[in-house]
Amino acid sequence: MRICRFDDNRVGVVIGEKVADVTDVVTEALPPQRWPLQRGDAFIAALPALRERLEEAASRAPLTPLDQVRLLSPVANPGKIIAAPVNYMKHVEESREDAGINFGTEISLIDRYALFLKANSSLVGAGEGVEIHHDDGRRTDHEVELALVIGKKARKVSEQEALECIAGYFIGLDITIRGTEDRSYRKSLDTFTVLGPWLVTADEFGSPESVELDIKVNDEPRQHANTQDLIWSVARIISFASHSYTLEPGDVILTGTPEGVAPIKRGDRMDAWIEGIGAMRVQVR
Ligand code: MN
Repeated sequence: MRICRFDDNRVGVVIGEKVADVTDVVTEALPPQRWPLQRGDAFIAALPALRERLEEAASRAPLTPLDQVRLLSPVANPGKIIAAPVNYMKHVEESREDAGINFGTEISLIDRYALFLKANSSLVGAGEGVEIHHDDGRRTDHEVELALVIGKKARKVSEQEALECIAGYFIGLDITIRGTEDRSYRKSLDTFTVLGPWLVTADEFGSPESVELDIKVNDEPRQHANTQDLIWSVARIISFASHSYTLEPGDVILTGTPEGVAPIKRGDRMDAWIEGIGAMRVQVR
């Protein structure tokens, strides 16, 4: 099942190139919230219980072509956005060259730095676009990554249990300004986390262990990889994260980017694609 958010916080089921508006199912099912709110995303938490009603509503709803809606982030209220640093071997080599850094005999940066967090306020959907914040010549880069959302509370789960905690997958863009500041600053500017185009539920997506991904900028190929080359697998990232952070429904994880990271500028058009999810176009402004 493919689920999107669009326009004015509408919820849709994606069927081919069209979207069925099932917002009423969600607003009727989720109770009004009272302070203090539970952490995490109430819709993602309720998704297993709502599946049948969403499918039934989608079969009756009028269909709107996807190119006529503005796609928002498929997760509205993540409790946290967790991301992996450099997590493909070739990108390790590229980063070392770019930074002029010699990491000696170390095998990988993810072993050294583990994970980092991005501000929730950086989150947008494909239809909202990415904003360039710096006009002073500083480099802003795209990073395409397989991303996922946690569907159930998870604490200290094993790698064997990890994939069962996933509600769904989407494309993630981890936009970054290069520089000396901490990652959590450089990757958390407004619009610097793009998720989309929609959520593909874990049952439909299948295994994340061998999935092709790529991104083109203005039709020029920039990054192309397969998740089988991840240094830390999806299961390992989730297991590791869950030993430090309690994972909750709605928590988002970006699994790290491959080689080919390169600059973007205002007016650019990013076309990202992941096997089993689809394509999303994101404008840079
Ligand atoms: Mn990244």
